[in-house]
Order: sequence, then structure tokens, then C-alpha cells
Amino acid sequence: MKQLVILSGKGGTGKTSVTAAFAHLASQGPFADRILLADADVDAANLELVLQPRRLDTRPFSGGQVAVIDADICMTCGDCESVCRFDAIAEMDGRFVVDPIACDGCAACVYQCPAEGIHMEEQTVGEVAVSESRYGPLHHAHLYPGQENSGKLVTQVKERARQQALDESRQLVLVDGPPGIGCPVIAAVSGADLALLVTEPTVSGIHDLRRALQTVQHFGVPALVCINKADVYPKGAQDIEADCLANGINAIGQIPFDLSIASAMVAGEAVTAYRPDAPASLALTALWERVVTCLIAPDATPDT
Ligand code: SF4
Ligand code: SF4
Repeated sequence: MKQLVILSGKGGTGKTSVTAAFAHLASQGPFADRILLADADVDAANLELVLQPRRLDTRPFSGGQVAVIDADICMTCGDCESVCRFDAIAEMDGRFVVDPIACDGCAACVYQCPAEGIHMEEQTVGEVAVSESRYGPLHHAHLYPGQENSGKLVTQVKERARQQALDESRQLVLVDGPPGIGCPVIAAVSGADLALLVTEPTVSGIHDLRRALQTVQHFGVPALVCINKADVYPKGAQDIEADCLANGINAIGQIPFDLSIASAMVAGEAVTAYRPDAPASLALTALWERVVTCLIAPDATPDT
């Protein structure tokens, strides 16, 4: 089983559109009926919006603990308020209460309370789900607003996907990764056979691509780069390719700016299925063939 993760240094580069197109193309070729999808962008799980799958199962995700004060035991001494470094405890109407959003779960107040009037409770911070899409099972998740532990949630999504892929002898897990370089990205990259980084020819795109590449390379995962909307700023695209060449990274293809991608998203379809002859679809199809070559034969250098 191979794991391909699609990443971007920053949000909005078209990563999910590329993933959806790859899911469609994979379902047409040698991976037909043998792919499985995982949306590891748990803060903004958009693959579900594009593919509009049928939800099969949803479960709560417990991502940490928060302090709870028992008002019947509390002596209103205020010790917990003074020990809390996160300003999560305050006095309201003569009672001390915990703000669950601000609470970091450190439990310092539990040990400080002379009356043993505080305990920690598991908190549901999101949900994990599995759905059936046109192109195969999709594992995804949703982290509630303001909640942390997205790295842990990504790990859970990937583990559920990997387990189903093994159980059903599926040959490819296609992971739509989160943007950036933080814990969720590290969780998404972990165990991948290949990473495709989607960037765009802007100053921030180039800057964030470099940081994302460093993260991927740190974990020893081979990386490829593709440049979306490359024709919007050809000089920027050339600079990215030169940068990749200088650092031994294969800039494997370019995708032109094409409104068909936005129209496909509105229609809830992969652009390669929605408008196969569109310039972006043709570029994505060529890109997919090169990526498959690298997945199957990691030492191969596909023509670009
Ligand atoms: S430390 Fe315990 S007793 Fe004191 S205010 Fe906090 S909860 Fe109440
Ligand atoms: S668990 Fe830590 S962060 Fe939460 S209220 Fe208690 S001291 Fe504050």
C-alpha cells in the first residue's frame, strides 16, 4: 500500500482541487476500486464539500481535558484563580467558574484547591467520520472552532484510513493534507511514501513552499512540487523551478489558471471529471501520470 500526501505551505493554493482531481483520475486507472481517501485538513475539511460523499459513520473526538469546579464543594477561597496561568478561572456572581475555551487542561488548579472541589473532564472537541465517495471511501474529521489537538485528530483520521486500506487490500491512500508546517502537517506527512507540494507563484507561496519542503525533508519523505496558476506570474514560476532544481527537488508540473476549477468546485465535482478538456484538467492528468510513475518507481525521473 502506498500513501501519497498532497500538501501546501499556505492555504488557498488549490491543494484540495488537486486531490479531488487525483481521486477521480486514480479511480479511472490502475488504482480503480483500490484507492482510499483521507482528508487530513481537519480545521477546514473541504474534500467533503468537493466530492459530496454519503456519510456512513460519525464519532465524537475527545482531544483533551478541562477543569470543572463543583460549586457544592467550593469554599470560594480564590486559590484556583491565582494559580491558573491561562486566566481560565474567574469569579462571577460570587462563584468561581472555568472558561472551557481558555482552560489548557494543565490541572494545576486541581492540585491547588484545598477543598478538592475541582476535577478534570474529557472534552469532545470534534468528530471523526467515514463516508462513501464516488471515488472510494473517505475518512475525514472536523475540529470544532477554537479547539486544539488537530495533530492528534489527523493521526486518528490517517490511522482509520490506513487500517481500512489494509483490511480491504487497497493500494493507494490519497491524503489531502493541511496547509502550513505545524503538528497537523507532521502528522499528515508521517508514514507517507511521497509528498506533492502545491504552490503558486507569489512571494508568500514561494516563502511558505520552502518551509514546507524543509518539514517534509526533515521526515525523510520524498517530495515533488507542482505550481498552480503558473501562467499568472511566469517569472515567479520560473523562480520556483530554479529554486527546486538548486535544492534537488523535482518541480513536476504546472497548472494554468482556469476558471473551470472554481466551476467544478461549485458543481461538487473534480475538475477532471467536470470538464476533462479544460486546460487545468489536461495539466492535472499529465501531472497525475508523472506522480504515479514516481509512486510506483521512486527512483524514476518522469518527463516534465
Ligand atoms: S481553589 Fe477550590 S475552594 Fe478555592 S475557589 Fe477554587 S474551587 Fe473553590
Ligand atoms: S486546568 Fe489549568 S488551565 Fe484549566 S483552569 Fe485549571 S489551572 Fe487553569
